[in-house]
Amino acid sequence: MDVVLVVNAGSSSVKFQIFDVAPGTEPQRLVKGQFEGIGTRPRLRAEANGGTQLIDKSYSPDQVADVAAAMAAASDWLQETQTFKLTAVGHRVVHGGPDYDRPVVADVEVLARLERYCPLAPLHQPNNLAPIRSLLKHRPDLLQVACFDTAFHRGHSAVADYYALPESYHREGVRRYGFHGLSYEYVAGRLRTVAPEIASGGRVIVAHLGSGASMCALAGGKSIESTMGFTALDGLPMGTRSGQIDPGVLLYFMTEKAMAPAAIENLLYQESGLKGLSGISNDMRELEASNSPGATLAIDYFVHRIALNAGMLAAALGGLDAFVFTAGIGENSSAIRARVAAKLSWLGVIADPAANTASKLLISTPESRVGLYIVPTDEELMIARHTLSFMRT
Ligand code: AMP
Repeated sequence: MDVVLVVNAGSSSVKFQIFDVAPGTEPQRLVKGQFEGIGTRPRLRAEANGGTQLIDKSYSPDQVADVAAAMAAASDWLQETQTFKLTAVGHRVVHGGPDYDRPVVADVEVLARLERYCPLAPLHQPNNLAPIRSLLKHRPDLLQVACFDTAFHRGHSAVADYYALPESYHREGVRRYGFHGLSYEYVAGRLRTVAPEIASGGRVIVAHLGSGASMCALAGGKSIESTMGFTALDGLPMGTRSGQIDPGVLLYFMTEKAMAPAAIENLLYQESGLKGLSGISNDMRELEASNSPGATLAIDYFVHRIALNAGMLAAALGGLDAFVFTAGIGENSSAIRARVAAKLSWLGVIADPAANTASKLLISTPESRVGLYIVPTDEELMIARHTLSFMRT
């Protein structure tokens, strides 16, 4: 059976999925797995599509010291236990820089180019590229495809792409890139099936509300604005990331508090957002279950910022025809959806409480001027599809 491996490599974990890619059909997910605790307490877990556990194995830190070793151990396990024929690998790569507006075959030249973007995403890009480099060395014959979180947004107009800085910074790459592009691309594709009129001509906001969170304005299915910018820190508050913050606060941290760049980075990426505000947790389920003032403030702030950013994106679109919820919180929290919908009533949004509680696809009433939808995202399937498209050409 020909399969595609989809890899999403982070600093201490590698998530992977295997898709059956029989010709002429949509890729079918067969295996979902992850290597966690790389370099500290490595543990490989994987399950079949139906949920059956296939492996749960711990390794010593020496055996699996880095992402490349984790990939090697995972592929050893796959080769020993599964009868797949690996034909290609699709990688999630956070940054495609100013140039890549679509996925690309990751050969040695492309890898060198993508390495130049590491300063633009120092926490993610080097980890995303490590498995590509390792496979190019050990399996040079294998087709590898890099799929970018930024690519879907590369058609933005200049006013959406620039910061109000001297032009030279834009030329060197300081731009509003936008992220979660694979999720938005998948959702835009689903809308073409479930709401074709809205997808083709509509003004749509998609809210990707997960541990990372952002929103995207889609005009006719194309991204025209995003709440994220140069990095995946901007815009909405997230599980542990601050979201939008006055740059003056960072100057204050540096000059008055003498905080080093690494300390500021840690604060903004790891200690802020829902976790920082609540003082309890980055997990929305825990916050919803708590009645502490911190949890209440964190949820209020989250909803408030979503509503503010929706106003901004509706202005970019010149109106609004549909609003789509996706990702962990967007797909699962009816309470957050109801509160966001109530805040958007001035745009003509009327939620249907029963449909919302039942997590239906369409959760607005027939009278609502704006269609409210829940569309579960699938970034890995999007990567598998892109990878398959290179196999067929
Ligand atoms: P993701 O990054 O898309 O996996 O989303 C993770 C986020 O979704 C976490 O904040 C979870 O708390 C949240 N989440 C998952 N399930 C639920 C749920 N049933 N209710 C509220 N939040 C949820």
